[in-house]
Amino acid sequence: MNIGMHGGACGHSCCLRIENMSVKIGGDSILSGVNLHVHCGQMIALIGPNGAGKSTLIKAILGQQEYDGIISFSVPGQRKRKAVIGYVPQSPTFDPGDPLTVADLFACCMSRRPAFLGLSRSMRNKVLSCLERVHGENLIDKRVGTLSGGELQRVLLALALEPIPNILILDEPLSGVDVEGMETLMDMLDELRKSYDLSILMTTHDFHMLPRYADTVALIDHRVVCEGTPEAVLQSEEFCRVFNRKGGIL
Ligand code: ADP
Ligand code: MG
Repeated sequence: MNIGMHGGACGHSCCLRIENMSVKIGGDSILSGVNLHVHCGQMIALIGPNGAGKSTLIKAILGQQEYDGIISFSVPGQRKRKAVIGYVPQSPTFDPGDPLTVADLFACCMSRRPAFLGLSRSMRNKVLSCLERVHGENLIDKRVGTLSGGELQRVLLALALEPIPNILILDEPLSGVDVEGMETLMDMLDELRKSYDLSILMTTHDFHMLPRYADTVALIDHRVVCEGTPEAVLQSEEFCRVFNRKGGIL
């Protein structure tokens, strides 16, 4: 079912297009007949029960999961259809006793210099400017394992924003983040989306955030069960059926 304006024909500004895509793992059909368009500068949220195939869909977009069908990007002003994807994985865990600092984490990802040699001044400045994008300069010397859920998400977001991607993909960025932190993170994503004309695709179970921030919601249960505006999807029959609820949300 398709509700709202984003499921129809896609013009030249379309950034990510998934057509008749399916995934089988070990003979089991995990996803089938998935059609989705993520338009430039838009935020799309994937919702659905655990095991519905949301993370599998993300892995396929990232090229980490084999699939049938088509996943293509079109980047305005670029002839080659190659998009830069920023990816924030589902909350990785770090040991609080681990000495790895935020600066070390960036150095591991961005520099060939061994972390034990410490950061060069120019690398430290680069890390600071990356952290500035998420208002997180104060986190640079903190141990990664001691960050709060919201702080860790901001650090991972800063990593995903270097270089600035065409599309940012976040797998359950709100899990492990308190309510206040959720709003901060969503406001930040909204700000980044506008500043950099980013397309954002995220999965979440925090449905109440969606009407304020998402342009489109796709309800996934091994296929796209329903797609449209947050208001329409959260009140749809399909939403009630999939989540076994008497009424929708809102
Ligand atoms: P979601 O993110 O919606 O919770 P997933 O995409 O992680 O769901 O998983 C969808 C289904 O695919 C689950 O039943 C899961 O067990 C299965 N699955 C995912 N990856 C693998 C894998 N590598 N091997 C076997 N089964 C997998
Ligand atoms: Mg998942």
